[in-house]
Amino acid sequence: MPRKFESESRKLLLRLREAMAEDSAGQARLDEITRLIASSMGTEVCSIYLFRDEDTLELCATEGLNPESVHQTRLRIGEGLVGRVAKKGRVVNSADAPSERGFRFMPETGEEIYSSFCGVPIQRLGENLGVLVVQSKEARDYSSDEVYALEVVAMVLAEMTELGAFVGEGAALSPLHQQSVLIKGGTAQEGAAEGQVWLHEPRVVISNPIADDPDVELKRLETAIDELRVGVDRMLDGAAGGDKEQLQVLEAYRMFANSKGWMRRMEQDIGQGLSAEAAVEKEQSIARARMSQATDAYLRDRLHDLDDLSNRLLRILTGQGKDTGAELPANPILVARNIGPAELLEYDRKLKGVVLEEGSVGSHAAIVARALAIPLIVHADRITNEALNGDAIMVDGDEGLVHLRPDDTVATAFRDKMAMRHNAQKRYESIRDLPAETLDGKTVQLHMNAGLMADLPSLAGSGAEGVGLFRTELQFLIRNQMPRREELAGLYARVMDSAKDKRVVFRTLDIGSDKVLPYMAPQDEPNPALGWRAIRVGLDKPGVLRMQLQALLRAAAGRPLTVMFPFIAQFEEFRAAKAEMDKAVEREKILGHPVPEELKVGAMLETPSLGFAPQKFFEEVDFISIGGNDLKQFFFAADRENERVRRRYDTLNVSFLTFIEGIVNRCRSTEEQTPLSFCGEDAGRPLEAVCLAAMGLRILSMRPASIGPVKSILRRANLDEVRQIIVEARERGDQSVRDAVREHLKTSNDRA
Ligand code: PEP
Ligand code: MG
Repeated sequence: MPRKFESESRKLLLRLREAMAEDSAGQARLDEITRLIASSMGTEVCSIYLFRDEDTLELCATEGLNPESVHQTRLRIGEGLVGRVAKKGRVVNSADAPSERGFRFMPETGEEIYSSFCGVPIQRLGENLGVLVVQSKEARDYSSDEVYALEVVAMVLAEMTELGAFVGEGAALSPLHQQSVLIKGGTAQEGAAEGQVWLHEPRVVISNPIADDPDVELKRLETAIDELRVGVDRMLDGAAGGDKEQLQVLEAYRMFANSKGWMRRMEQDIGQGLSAEAAVEKEQSIARARMSQATDAYLRDRLHDLDDLSNRLLRILTGQGKDTGAELPANPILVARNIGPAELLEYDRKLKGVVLEEGSVGSHAAIVARALAIPLIVHADRITNEALNGDAIMVDGDEGLVHLRPDDTVATAFRDKMAMRHNAQKRYESIRDLPAETLDGKTVQLHMNAGLMADLPSLAGSGAEGVGLFRTELQFLIRNQMPRREELAGLYARVMDSAKDKRVVFRTLDIGSDKVLPYMAPQDEPNPALGWRAIRVGLDKPGVLRMQLQALLRAAAGRPLTVMFPFIAQFEEFRAAKAEMDKAVEREKILGHPVPEELKVGAMLETPSLGFAPQKFFEEVDFISIGGNDLKQFFFAADRENERVRRRYDTLNVSFLTFIEGIVNRCRSTEEQTPLSFCGEDAGRPLEAVCLAAMGLRILSMRPASIGPVKSILRRANLDEVRQIIVEARERGDQSVRDAVREHLKTSNDRA
């Protein structure tokens, strides 16, 4: 870039800074800025458009267009060339704007006399704030140097907007991050919570985007980059000898940290007058904009790497580290782009809820949130851009809604809902020690699902009769390396101790598919849910399974023990897994360790195939537990993690219930009447629970918070009648029995 041009651009930035420093109102600053840019760039027009709401841009200041049109001219995002810049987050540069596709002429501005147009987005870290435009009568293409200079100015404008420099009258000039915002995300864990935002990664604030002395800034950048590289090298050293794939990822990461292109672009930005941190952020913003448009997964991952490196660099440069010294608020609701299970657990039980911009329903974080019984919302678009530490926030996990800085009406409605929940909770407490006995005298056992030691206190509090599913993989997921047998034995022993004489059903390690251990090589499988997972891994690489079985036997230390194997798809798999257990018991005997006084070994029925297994399977297995989450996904061939399809098929679909009834009948047909339970999430949904019970299930296992509502509805239901409703719906050819059963329960309750 020519030196002369650089110094021109720097001069402009310095003048902008002076304009900012003046004690004037937001509007006056904007007016002054448009004047400065137009004169510095030698264009007749310079205009600034800012968002007044999510979809509408407003002309907020102009040099050259009709002043009357300021705050009058508005465009929808995508409308006209200005709208196009905002929508795509990309520059539009045209010598003959009126001939451009999508050009929209706005007569009130008097712009008909201008031929050339150059618009650049004003954006900060992927957040669109507005558009900066220059126009000239002369039909000319703006040079790449000029476009670049405009981008640098736009970057400074974005920082200034963020800092509140343009606050004034009207919606477009209202301060950022103060209005109430409603974000619709996806539910990964139900529940409701009110509290204050706690950002997992606090926003880095750049108070001075314009540099006094480029040489000083270049030096600062260089020193920070050196520090960053040392840090990355240290990470690589730490991972040396570890997993190959992880090393490859880190190598790619190091490559980025050493990327000459990245460094050169930031140096150029500084040459234009930006401070080192503003230069980092400018490149980061561009990478984020590309990330949101990238369809290639590999490219997206690399852009993620760059984003992460930029964050590290910003923290080094600004000294704003993770630990800002701020105290967790009273009712923290964690807001993050994404979070790993171990990081989430580090917050202990302090969090009231979690909102993630990315995340997924089956992610490890979701599993932990489920265990912590706090609402979790995923795919909450823009939340990390919108939320500030300490903001009031209300999370409705049932509906997947996030109310950020809610206004009074929303807050009142939300609190009413919470109060209703609270009252219901009180009602549930009053029946905690009563059985879930239906009106027609049938008793359903209600157990709870768990996965953490910290879940165990709920056993007494919820009225659960035992732990119907203890997901052992959480202990594996939250560590950086494979846990040792002694550690696991200690933990399982503590679980059994605190369950006292209540039964705990330990499920052996269920990994693969969505649950990938950080220290195991990820498998590149086209369909992980149908791939090498759960017992398939356990049987093919039995080392871990054996270690876990031994840990369970040691933990039991002679006490009764119940274990089940996940994802058994055929009888032979159960036999092979059971043989591992038999061998483990024999080994314990030889070593002189006590063996369980009673050992029950069961299988999870999670694939339709097992429902059709030979009769001998149903006779040999000590018990069966239906993993409804997986069973449903395979029954309907609908991915449980794919938002597009996961709610498409109703659990109360007649075909699914008929299949469940078939399994009940097969279990009943054995001499011993093989015990059968259901431990998928649906067991905890009241209507679903009633229908499952009507199909003959007598043991349901669910998250502790669901036990009250499920018990309450079961105690008011007549299962024979519900079964009759289902039979009639089936005869009518209804697709789902949901409406009919809901209506029946409502009218019978009204009658009572
Ligand atoms: C299930 O599939 O229903 C189940 C309980 O297992 P998970 O949700 O852990 O896959
Ligand atoms: Mg499962």
